[in-house]
Amino acid sequence: MDRLRAMDVKFLKGVGPKRAELLASELDIHTCYDLLCYYPSHYVDRSRYYTISSFTHEMPSVQVQGRFVRFSMHGEGAKTRLVGLFSDGTGTMEVVWFKRLKWIKDAYRTDLDYVLFGKPMEFSGRWSMVHPEIEDPYTAESSVGLRGVYSLTEKLRNRGITSRTLHQLIQGLLRAYATEIHDPLPPDLVRGMHMMTKYDALLTVHNPPDNDRLVRARNRLKFEELLMLQLNILNYARRRSLSILGHRFTQVGHYFNTFYRDCMPFELTGAQKRVIKEVRADMNTGRQMNRLLQGDVGSGKTLVALMCMLIALDNGTQACLMAPTEILATQHYETIAAMVAPIGINVKLLTGSTPKKQRDVIHSQLLDGSLHILIGTHAVIEDVVRFRNLGFVVIDEQHRFGVAQRGRMWKKNTLPPHILVMTATPIPRTLAMTVYGDLDVSVIDELPPGRKPVVTLLRYENHRMDVYQAMARQLREGRQVYVVFPLIRENENVDMKSLEEGYEQICEVFRDWRVAYVHGQMKPAEKDAQMNLFASHEADILVATTVIEVGVNVPNATTMIIENAERFGLSQLHQLRGRVGRGEGQSYCVLMTKSKISTETRSRLEIMTSTTDGFVVAEADLKMRGPGDLEGTMQSGMPIELRIASLTSDGRIIKLARDVAQSILDADPDLSMPQHVLLRKEMEALFAKAADWGMIS
Ligand code: ADP
Ligand code: MG
Repeated sequence: MDRLRAMDVKFLKGVGPKRAELLASELDIHTCYDLLCYYPSHYVDRSRYYTISSFTHEMPSVQVQGRFVRFSMHGEGAKTRLVGLFSDGTGTMEVVWFKRLKWIKDAYRTDLDYVLFGKPMEFSGRWSMVHPEIEDPYTAESSVGLRGVYSLTEKLRNRGITSRTLHQLIQGLLRAYATEIHDPLPPDLVRGMHMMTKYDALLTVHNPPDNDRLVRARNRLKFEELLMLQLNILNYARRRSLSILGHRFTQVGHYFNTFYRDCMPFELTGAQKRVIKEVRADMNTGRQMNRLLQGDVGSGKTLVALMCMLIALDNGTQACLMAPTEILATQHYETIAAMVAPIGINVKLLTGSTPKKQRDVIHSQLLDGSLHILIGTHAVIEDVVRFRNLGFVVIDEQHRFGVAQRGRMWKKNTLPPHILVMTATPIPRTLAMTVYGDLDVSVIDELPPGRKPVVTLLRYENHRMDVYQAMARQLREGRQVYVVFPLIRENENVDMKSLEEGYEQICEVFRDWRVAYVHGQMKPAEKDAQMNLFASHEADILVATTVIEVGVNVPNATTMIIENAERFGLSQLHQLRGRVGRGEGQSYCVLMTKSKISTETRSRLEIMTSTTDGFVVAEADLKMRGPGDLEGTMQSGMPIELRIASLTSDGRIIKLARDVAQSILDADPDLSMPQHVLLRKEMEALFAKAADWGMIS
């Protein structure tokens, strides 16, 4: 293993320095071990032959066997192409090449059988294949089981590195170094879990005899990868909890008590009380707190954050709250400043648009300690923002920030501040285990009393007038209404138009009501002015894009109409819907779509009408939409890049890996037992590059 890890691919036969450079720059393959771990991106079935007469448009790449009838050159200059007429006895097709024409013409003959592998395409009534893979039917490889396809870049292909080249290089390595590929997992574990050994798994993913074995091999490699990851996360969390000192907040004092006695707008829910206790206990251990607070939209995280900040103040330190958008930061600022005004706490807002003069005041008050609580956007991370003694940091909607940003807040104080990250994005538990794996978790699993679940309805264009009538009834009862339009980048102009038309239509239909209007392209001041009209009930209807998605809090708004609902992801719909149902009144969320939608779209939207549980929505979203963006965002915070496992679709394996990692570390925290020697070496090799990851998380 060590030898493979140390061996540069340029020394392999057929590679050499030029191709090695390309493999490194294009695929991040440097050593022979990297090459072995470059797994096929998908597989094609090479176990059966197709006939030309049976070709259809839907076919993926297929293989056919037959002979070339003749070759001919067409076109000229850069457009020259070589066409071979190919027959398999059931029909003929054209095989077309645009490159390496001369070489190909010399290489293939008309009196021999060949196996061609490619995707059948039809042009003006004639089947063809472009640059198919071509093999001699008598070489053994061509007819065996599944064939792995390695994803490649154009640059590599131009240098003659094909999927087949990689396949052959890897097969060569597997043969030559069979005895050096050791299993990093302890033999007892491998046996106990009936897993393939590492070597068998590698052999199988690169050359699977059948689908069952392929699945087993992939699962084994996924498990190994996730186990390493969990060992790293758990080990790091353990080390930190043993060694990193933090502020010791021993008392609950004047600010907390006075606020609790005199300023509380309402009684805390049981869940809120529990979480405050958990945080308090965690801040009094002498170690630094790193805690995740999960709670569905509307569960009252802000109040919890504020009460925890007051504890920090009571212990002579400052607090900071960071939010992902200007609107949200401003709203937090306004709510919090208003609540603590009576007890003489100095709160200030810092965002990208804070004028220089105010900025200077903030900077100096932070340094002399007279500013108690700073609220802002990521502007608060900047190096010029320095505190006298920062003791507590709240990061709202953490999923919008990277791990690195958390790390920068850490470094703002000699003694790192306690950190509470809050999220309403209900990411599936197995994912949280990995992405937030090093954090302790508190959960608010109870909504404030009197909340009624939002009634969600799916309505089509032809119901529009009924929807408007229902909306009017709410307005007459003194309630407010959101009307939300999608505004998605690729289609900005079209969307802008539908937003503007929608706005005009609403103004037309609801002539007697006051309508406010916001979208992301407005200037912040204008946006705020419109939002404030709605928040202060000087407007009854707010026509908006998803800028209102996060955090906006207007309890009197009881109805939300979402236009073109099919264009939103489920999690986004859930976030939007969280803007209503914040007060005592029964709230409604109406998903509007055009009259004809696919069954798939309907069943997706029906998830929204059938549940208000954020976790159920998130799980369903993942299943239907696939890992997509979530995977990308989540990956960006990880210490290693996963080669085969998926954070979003391998939940079961993540859970298993977590449990196994935990029991290994319980028994042998330093991985020093003889059966863990190879495991430890593997960890060291894998995480060498990411060595300082731990410190910033
Ligand atoms: P989120 O968890 O989504 O950030 P917020 O903190 O914005 O939720 O709270 C949502 C709404 O619930 C706010 O209007 C807030 O004032 C209110 N709220 C919070 N805690 C309570 C409580 N214990 N009782 C009643 N209302 C509460
Ligand atoms: Mg919030």
